[in-house]
Order: sequence, then C-alpha cells, then structure tokens
Amino acid sequence: MRRKIVAANWKMNLNQTQALELYSAIGLGKNDDVQLIVFPVALHAQMLIAQGGSIPLGIQNFYFESKGAFTGEISVIQVKDIGVQYVLIGHSERRSIFGESNEMIKKKVDAALEFGLTPLFCCGEPLGVRESGKELTFVREQLEQSLFHLDKRAIEKCIIAYEPVWAIGTGRTADSRQAEEMHASIRSWISERYNTEVAEKIPILYGGSCNPSNAGELFACPNVDGGLIGGASLDAASFLAIAGSF
Ligand code: PEP
Repeated sequence: MRRKIVAANWKMNLNQTQALELYSAIGLGKNDDVQLIVFPVALHAQMLIAQGGSIPLGIQNFYFESKGAFTGEISVIQVKDIGVQYVLIGHSERRSIFGESNEMIKKKVDAALEFGLTPLFCCGEPLGVRESGKELTFVREQLEQSLFHLDKRAIEKCIIAYEPVWAIGTGRTADSRQAEEMHASIRSWISERYNTEVAEKIPILYGGSCNPSNAGELFACPNVDGGLIGGASLDAASFLAIAGSF
C-alpha cells in the first residue's frame, strides 16, 4: 500500500515564534497513519530541527550547484547538512514568479537525489491550458522533461504533487473527477515509462485550495495519496483535520 502523505507548504509566512508554535501544535496532534512533512522558510528549518520535533522537514527552494558564486542561493549540500530530508521542486510559484524552467527543475531533481534528499515534485497546468482542454499533454510534458529521465531506482524515491495552478491560493479546487483523472493519468504514464510496480509505489498528492471541507472527497479518490497544503496549513487545527480526512 502506498504511503499517505500530507505536507504543509508554509510559503513565505510566519515569524520564528509562530513557526515554532505551529510546528509544536502539529506535532502534538499528528496521527501515525499519515506521514506529515513541513516545508517552512529555509531560515526557520534549522531552528525547528534543533527543537527536535518528530515531523520531518523540507525546504521550499534550493539551488542545484553544490557551492560557489550564487549570491542569495542555498546549495543542496547546505540543505542536506542541516538535517532536512525533503525538497519542494517545481512549485508553480517558482516556475511563474522566478522563471524556473523544466530544464532547471530537472537539474534540481538530480541534485536532490544525488545528495539523498527526497524531491516532492510539483506539476500542474495554468487556467488557460485547462480551458483549452490540453491539461494532460501539458502535465505529461512537465514530467517527461524534468522527471522521466530518472532510472527506476531514482524515480521510486520521488513524491509527485499535482497542483493545478488555477486552484492554488484561489479557493477554487479541482473536483474529485478532475483530480482523479489527472492522478490516474500520471500513474499510467509512470507505468508506461517504467512499469506498474514502480507506478504503484509513487505517492501522488493533490494540491490547490485543499481544506478540511474538501479533503475527504479528494483523498477518497483511488489515485490521490494525500495533499500538499498551502493556506490551510498555517492553522494547526485545519492542517490536522485535513490529515485526518482519509
Ligand atoms: C501550494 O502552494 O502548494 C498550495 C497548494 O497552496 P493552497 O493550498 O493555498 O492553494
């Protein structure tokens, strides 16, 4: 059976005290049937690790080079060095605001795996693509260009999140039919490229305005293995309610 995962993307929110309080509150309420992961801002990750909480942490961004003249960036080795286990790669805000291409995202996937970090790889189509009915082609291309170069052993280490861009932070969620169609398609592409056994192992999360009211319906879809949660992860009760929605 695939792991159930609910991950919190805190984005560029919270001060140190708030991050500590929220991390502790989530830790107190967690349920061992669901793997939780928290992605705070990088500045706070080290502090949360030092606090010794039981929820694994991830970084929202890093650069694929291991060191050098890249002012303002954090290297993959530095991320690994502080004890972080997961990295978010390909989030739509990184793609659209910071111009990250499929090629750069591919380099980040490779760097993360080389240094033993687990990529949480995000894919998803913008509204215009959904409206033109080309969402399957668009997402498949994202996977082919940034993920499907990996060999079997490497891709099995990844987690995928399908996050339709039109649903992120908008309050508009993909309905369960739309989510299941995309998740089942992603699994079938993995199966075609690798095999069914690999496809059955990889967790595929849904992200985009997921909240305690809609999580149950989304998580009931056979190919939805959990969620990547933005806004609703900033409140411990709603994040834990989502995690309890399987
Ligand atoms: C996200 O940013 O990954 C996300 C899913 O955000 P939200 O839940 O706020 O739509």
